[in-house]
Amino acid sequence: DADDGPPMPRHKVTAKGLNVPPPAEKFEDLKTRYDLSSLILTNLGEYGYTRPTGIQAHGIPILLESRDLAAISPTGTGKTLSYLIPVMAALGAPIASANSQNGTGVRAIILAPTRELAHQIHNECLKLAQGRKWRIVLFSKATAATLADKSVRDKVDIIISTPLRLVMSLQSSKLELNNVRHLILDEADRMLDSEFLPQVEEIVAACSREGLQKAVFSATLPAGVERVAMGMLNNPIRVVVGLKDT
Ligand code: ADP
Ligand code: MG
Repeated sequence: DADDGPPMPRHKVTAKGLNVPPPAEKFEDLKTRYDLSSLILTNLGEYGYTRPTGIQAHGIPILLESRDLAAISPTGTGKTLSYLIPVMAALGAPIASANSQNGTGVRAIILAPTRELAHQIHNECLKLAQGRKWRIVLFSKATAATLADKSVRDKVDIIISTPLRLVMSLQSSKLELNNVRHLILDEADRMLDSEFLPQVEEIVAACSREGLQKAVFSATLPAGVERVAMGMLNNPIRVVVGLKDT
């Protein structure tokens, strides 16, 4: 309605793939259609966001329907919440709550190319998680050391890390990724370039659970990198957000 004016410019969005779910034009649609937890909706309300951005409207339903996703959307269009909302919704109860569906070990991994970016994602994630005791770990040398303790490691819900830091933990500690259900690559153009690709591939290989959901997010995806991304994803939907309405 009129009070609900767009907080951000609306963008032209194209979504391609098999059985693309319809976009969620309002955050409340996610509650109606996917039973998104009221806690997440309330926390979103705290941000003061009135409606999803283009990539959020399209990307969140795709991820909530357990599909793989390649999302290309310009800088500043809210890509972070596009994956944080569905990942946290899918995780549901914190692992420490002993819900039998949780299994043992970390269930979601978000990779970013730099420590600063990982830090920003961690902050957004903590805001969205307020009120529920998820263990959301920003990977560093220090946290990697504490995770050497199995009882600590087994109670982590989400890891946010650079590829190198995570690979080092795979090699040096007993960190296992066989319970990971969601793997997100942010700034995927960098994550899939020659510097990071070997590390990312090692992480993907370690995420051995069947039905692993993978998604890549980027402002741009040059053709060569896009081929790598598409090879990594399973029956993906590709969403492209244009710079402006045309
Ligand atoms: P990107 O990763 O696409 O560059 P970010 O996720 O960093 O974008 O978000 C850019 C800014 O937009 C952040 O300040 C974020 O809090 C804000 N934002 C995210 N979603 C919305 C929304 N639905 N409405 C208004 N602002 C939003
Ligand atoms: Mg971003």
